[in-house]
Amino acid sequence: PARTRFAPSPTGFVHLGSLRTALYNFLLARATGGQFLLRIEDTDQTRKKDGAEDDIYEALRWAGVEWDEGPEVGGECGPYRQSERLGIYKEYAEKLLESGHAYRCFCTKDRLDKLRDSAQKMKPPSMATYDRYCYHIDHETSAAKAASNEPFTIRLKAPESYPVMKDLLHGELDLQVQSNYSDPRYDDPVLFKTDGFPTYHLANVVDDHLMRITHVIRGEEWLPSTPKHLALYNAFGWTPPEFIHIPLLTSLEDKKLSKRTGDVGIKAYKENGILPEALVNFVALYGWSPPLGAQENGTNKKKKREATAMGEIMTMKDLIANFNLNGLTKGNAKVSESKLEFFNSYFLRTRIEDPEKRRELALEIQPALISKFSDISTKKQHKHKFEVEYIEKVLTVFKGSLKTLPELPNVASYAFTDLPSYGSKEGMDYISDLSITREGDDAVKFLQEFAVWWTRAENVPSVEEIDAKIKFFARESGYKPTTVFHALRFAIAGSVPGAPLPLLVDLLDPDTVTIRIVNALR
Ligand code: GLU
Repeated sequence: PARTRFAPSPTGFVHLGSLRTALYNFLLARATGGQFLLRIEDTDQTRKKDGAEDDIYEALRWAGVEWDEGPEVGGECGPYRQSERLGIYKEYAEKLLESGHAYRCFCTKDRLDKLRDSAQKMKPPSMATYDRYCYHIDHETSAAKAASNEPFTIRLKAPESYPVMKDLLHGELDLQVQSNYSDPRYDDPVLFKTDGFPTYHLANVVDDHLMRITHVIRGEEWLPSTPKHLALYNAFGWTPPEFIHIPLLTSLEDKKLSKRTGDVGIKAYKENGILPEALVNFVALYGWSPPLGAQENGTNKKKKREATAMGEIMTMKDLIANFNLNGLTKGNAKVSESKLEFFNSYFLRTRIEDPEKRRELALEIQPALISKFSDISTKKQHKHKFEVEYIEKVLTVFKGSLKTLPELPNVASYAFTDLPSYGSKEGMDYISDLSITREGDDAVKFLQEFAVWWTRAENVPSVEEIDAKIKFFARESGYKPTTVFHALRFAIAGSVPGAPLPLLVDLLDPDTVTIRIVNALR
C-alpha cells in the first residue's frame, strides 16, 4: 500500500495543475489500499496568502479528493501544518550539525547579495551562489558565535557529486545535470533560516520521512530540488521515498490553452457550472491514460458500454479501480477543451437522471431563473414555471442539450417566457419564406392541422401521442419531415434547437402551445 501526500504551499489558489497532483497521489493511495495525507507547507511566511488554505480544503473536498490524515481530520503524524512543527525541524537541523553534515553560516545578507551579483556578472554567469566561507569555521568558533546570539542559517554540506537517481516515470536521471549546478558544493542549501523557520527542503524531507511517505508524485518543477532532498536523506541515513515527477501543465498553456482552462482557480470552474466529476475526469487524463479495456471491466455493463462508445468517461470509482503508475505519460497529454464540455454534459445528464440530484440542480438554478425572468415570474399564470417541480421537468427535457447548469436560463428560455423570441435569423427567414415556397405552404398547413388536432383533443395528448402525430403528419401528408419539425419547433421555441420536440410540446401547458402556434401563423 502506498502512503502518499499532497503538500501544497498556501501561496495561491488551487489550479488545474495542483488538483491533478493531488488527484494522482490520492488515486495511488486508494488504488493500493494505502493512505493519502494532506500537509500544508507554510514555512515561507512571506509568500502566504490569505484564504489560500481554506481554498485548498474547499477545492479538494469539492473534487472528492478526501484526505485520511491532515489538517481538520488529524492523524497520528500530526500536526500537518508545517508552521506548527518548527520544534521538530530545529531538532533535526541540530542533528545534522552534530553529525557534521551541516554547518552554521553567519554570512550577512549583504555579503550573500554581493556574491550573487558577481556570480551573475561572470561570463558565462556562474550558478554558484555561495563560496563556502563559513564551511571552514571550526566547530568551537561556530558554537561560540551562536552562543553569543550572532544570527546564522544552517547549511547542508552538499556532496561532492550527486548520484544518479531513479524516478519511477523518467527512469534514471543524472541529477548533476538536473540540479543545474556545475559543482554541487557551491550550493550548500540552506536548511534553517535565521527566523527560526526551516526551508522547504528540510521541512519537506523531514516530514516525508516522519509521515512515512512511500511515493512522492509532484510536478516536474521540483526535479531540480530532488538532488538536495536525496542528499538530505543520505545525511540522515534515511531511505528516500519513490519519486514520480509529472510533466507540467504550463506547456499546454503555451499551446494556447485559453484562460478558461489555463491558470484559473478551481473555484472558477465551479462557478462556471463545471461539475467536479467532469473536472476530475478531465484532469486525470492530462498525463495519465487508463489501461486498455479499462472501461469494459466494470460492473455496470450497460453504462460501461456506453462509456466506451463515448471515449474516456471515468468516474472517481473507475479511476480508483484503474489507476496505476504505468499509465502515466512523460509528455504533455493533449486534451482538448471541448472535452471538458463533453464530460460535463455527460455528468450533468447523469445527475439529471437521478431524482435526488435533479431536485438539487433545480433548487440551485431556481434563483437565476426567477431573476432572469423577473418580469413574468411574479405573474399568477406563470408562477408554476418557477416552482421546483416544473424546473425539474425542464431539466429532463433539456438534459441532452445542456453543457452546464447555468446555461439553462438561456438554452431553455422559451420554457419560461410568454412567447419565444422569434428573433433568430434562421426563424425569420423561415417564416418569410412560408408563403412563397411549397415548403412554406406545407409548413403553414401542417401548423394549422396540428393546431386543430391539438385543440380538439379531448384529453391533453401524451408525449407518445404527440410523437405519433408529428410522425404521422410527416409520413402520411407528403410534407417533408424536416418541414414538419422545423415548423413546429419554430412556432414553439423560436427555432432554437435542442430539446426533443414531443417532450417540448408536452412540457408547456396546452394553452401556451396553442397561443404559440397561432402567433407563429399570424
Ligand atoms: N510545497 C511544495 C508545493 O507547493 C511541495 C512540493 C512537493 O510535493 O514536494 O508544491
